[in-house]
Amino acid sequence: MNILQQISRAGICLVAVTALNSCHNSDSANKQADSTKTAVAKPLPGSPIKYDSSKRYIFLTWDDSPQPPGTVNCKAVFQAEGIKATFFSVGFNQVGPWKKRLIDSIRNGYPQFLLANHSFSHGFKDKYKKFYSASMTDSALHDFLYNEQLLQIPVKIIRLPGNNTWASNGEIHGQLAKNPLVHKLDSMGYKIIGWDLEWAQQNKVKAPKETPEEMVKRINQKFEDGNTNQQNAIVILSHDRLFEKKQFADSLARFISLLKQDKRNVFETIDHYPSVQKK
Ligand SMILES: [Zn+2]
Repeated sequence: MNILQQISRAGICLVAVTALNSCHNSDSANKQADSTKTAVAKPLPGSPIKYDSSKRYIFLTWDDSPQPPGTVNCKAVFQAEGIKATFFSVGFNQVGPWKKRLIDSIRNGYPQFLLANHSFSHGFKDKYKKFYSASMTDSALHDFLYNEQLLQIPVKIIRLPGNNTWASNGEIHGQLAKNPLVHKLDSMGYKIIGWDLEWAQQNKVKAPKETPEEMVKRINQKFEDGNTNQQNAIVILSHDRLFEKKQFADSLARFISLLKQDKRNVFETIDHYPSVQKK
């Protein structure tokens, strides 16, 4: 996205703006004006966008970061392809300064990248039954809130660990539609994002199960069937770690370039998903 497109978006904030004092000396005023050239217009996460009904919005949502080298590879591919993506991150995985810098780079990478919340402990280290039990609601809630604070997550957008459930403004559906934690998060204004399609992992091997061609075919089929959570939008789930080997990072690049061949496809971050934008 170029700077003009960014400026045309609603909800723009101006950062690092230096106020110009009134001055009768034009040279001095020019010098001051020059000093404001460093001001950068940057949209805030969650700022509204206008949808184009002729487009198909693709939301790549990659879970469990920071998990280098997978996270590093995915970021590099997304950057090289110039597309947007969301990283649902896990504070427990942020060990040491390098991984912290990786999370910082995602957070600071907005509007291309969005940092979102996947819990601190990944559901008490994958103990989902316990994590989602009614007696653990407060602890599980704290786990999300702590992660938000630790990683400085700029949006109230959550993906539940190991679970495909959606919640927004009291509209709740999916596997845990009746769960007290889900209702609590919803009542606090959090948006819970499930997924329409997963680019899954091969059995016990850190590699993507489907080829890029198979994935694109499935995406096209879902759009054609109208079989997505929201019209003209698809949420794809995958995991950074699947792309840590070069050959699979190349598969990710191929997947994106195939999708880019269809001019209807637009890549967006999940703060621009229709149910998230809805107030
Ligand atoms: Zn996960």
